Amino acid sequence: MKFAKRLDRLPPYLFVDINRRIAEMRSKGIDIVTFAIGDPDLPTPTHIIDRLCQEALVPANHRYPETDGLPELRQSIADWYSERFNVALDPDAEVLPLIGSKEGIGHIAFCFVESGSTVLVPDPGYPVYSMATMISGGEPHYMPLLEDNGFLPRFEAIPSSVAAGSALMWLNYPNNPTGAGASLEFFEEAVDFARRHDIAICHDAPYTEVYFEGRKPPSFMEARGSKDIGVEFHSLSKTYHMTGWRIGMVVGNRDMIRALFTVKSNLDSGIPQAIQLMAIEALRGSQEVIDLHNEILEHRRDRLVAVLDEIGLHARIPDGTFYVWARVPDGYSCVDLARELLEQVHVAVTPGIGYGASGADYIRFSITLPDDRLEEGVQRLARWRGGSR
Ligand SMILES: *Cc1c(COP(=O)(O)O)cnc(C)c1O
Repeated sequence: MKFAKRLDRLPPYLFVDINRRIAEMRSKGIDIVTFAIGDPDLPTPTHIIDRLCQEALVPANHRYPETDGLPELRQSIADWYSERFNVALDPDAEVLPLIGSKEGIGHIAFCFVESGSTVLVPDPGYPVYSMATMISGGEPHYMPLLEDNGFLPRFEAIPSSVAAGSALMWLNYPNNPTGAGASLEFFEEAVDFARRHDIAICHDAPYTEVYFEGRKPPSFMEARGSKDIGVEFHSLSKTYHMTGWRIGMVVGNRDMIRALFTVKSNLDSGIPQAIQLMAIEALRGSQEVIDLHNEILEHRRDRLVAVLDEIGLHARIPDGTFYVWARVPDGYSCVDLARELLEQVHVAVTPGIGYGASGADYIRFSITLPDDRLEEGVQRLARWRGGSR
């Protein structure tokens, strides 16, 4: 078969060995506590599920949906943005529902990336930004996110020849995997930089509702001038524990949204309508689940970070997201450490290198496991003594 060459450009999956070992240990009956899965452990709230069940019975919802979604869904998204961020959006031109935000993040590459074009991508970062770039024939230029700069990229470090040739820049705050937040001033700096070099900005923001100490993160769309050159991807996945239902959205610049709609309308046929109605329920209904979940996560975060400190895995306290990004002790690589934690105390974590070269000295803990499992995991970590080797 004549497979396309673009497939060869995608790097091999990094954690084959570790995952094989986890499966092997589990098959022997060894209990492994996993901090490796970034998916809320709590179920979708009942009122949202109830709406889905009702709507599933309605024959009109059994038919093909429209690619741009129900007008009421686009309106609910605009209302939600207005309420939460005080950002005004035209529901017919500045809002597009997605089959989960990952779908739009992947497809928008087709709107901007040509063979040989450059895309500015955060390192470490969600792998889809660079993979979609490469599938479209482009080349990622990595912007290191370093701890001494609060895990924000330094725009002045991007060579001007690279900036001039870049079509798109990806940003993501609150950030997966570092847990760092960004200020409105930072977003405005990004807008100024992108405007100078004629670069479109895609801000990926699925974690704006996963925050701590009541400090709500800003939306990129609040930044001065953001709508002139950028869009924001958002999702119901993390906010309402709806990862399995696949619904998200992109909002902002109308030309970018129109371009993405053109691509999408030729590739997919939208989101099942009962799920769109379920999303309306989530956006318009009680928002109580957000505080409730964040309180649970804040306890888990504090419990984990305290123990990590004790065992010599320094972690900056995350501002948001459900990740803790911990630095490995001197003498370890992230893969060595992940292996050692698995073998010695039966705890699974994600090696940071999976998110980019700048993640090589870190491991990622996801705190999306039930409290009793987290407690068990934390006690096992406290017994690990390798950090002093
Ligand atoms: C979870 C996640 C997504 C994808 O969310 P879906 O809407 O479920 O596709 C996108 N970006 C980041 C950084 C994520 O962590």
